Amino acid sequence: MPESRNVEELIAHLRRQGHRITIQRRLVLEVLAEEEGHRHYTGEEIHRRLSERGAGVDMATVYRILHWLRDLGIVSQTDVGTGCYVYSLAYPPHHHLICLNCGHTFTIDDEPFEGLRRMLKEKYGFVARIEHFAIFGYCDDCSVRASNDSLTEGQPVENPRISCGKPSESEDNSSAE
Ligand SMILES: [Zn+2]
Ligand SMILES: [Zn+2]
Repeated sequence: MPESRNVEELIAHLRRQGHRITIQRRLVLEVLAEEEGHRHYTGEEIHRRLSERGAGVDMATVYRILHWLRDLGIVSQTDVGTGCYVYSLAYPPHHHLICLNCGHTFTIDDEPFEGLRRMLKEKYGFVARIEHFAIFGYCDDCSVRASNDSLTEGQPVENPRISCGKPSESEDNSSAE
């Protein structure tokens, strides 16, 4: 995994591996690199941002490029509890603690996961891709309230910082691939 968020460096890395960099691939990397403050994008949001700048990249192509980058370890694909994946550059690795009650999201660094990765490799020979992990639970405030019995149990919250961007799911489920 290249330790960079710089588009030109990522492209140079991909070229060294023999990949062809189309204009669409470059544009998707540019949108991913623009992300600020851990406000990660869904595939739909990346597609929308590309459309806003007049780039005619269709949704299927956006997902094909995202999955290609994911398989190469450049992009992480994470379920943050909204029912759709968010995609972000895998470097630097970081993780999120998401409160199931109030939706508060904390961002933590990779340090606690270094030992886990090492253990999984040593014990199971398993190379874990843990570069962007979402852990669900209860924040300090909510766990204190839970012990006072006022926690609203099992209420899934809309993560206020990461929304799905999908239209209504009420109809046309049959066309899902
Ligand atoms: Zn993140
Ligand atoms: Zn909370």
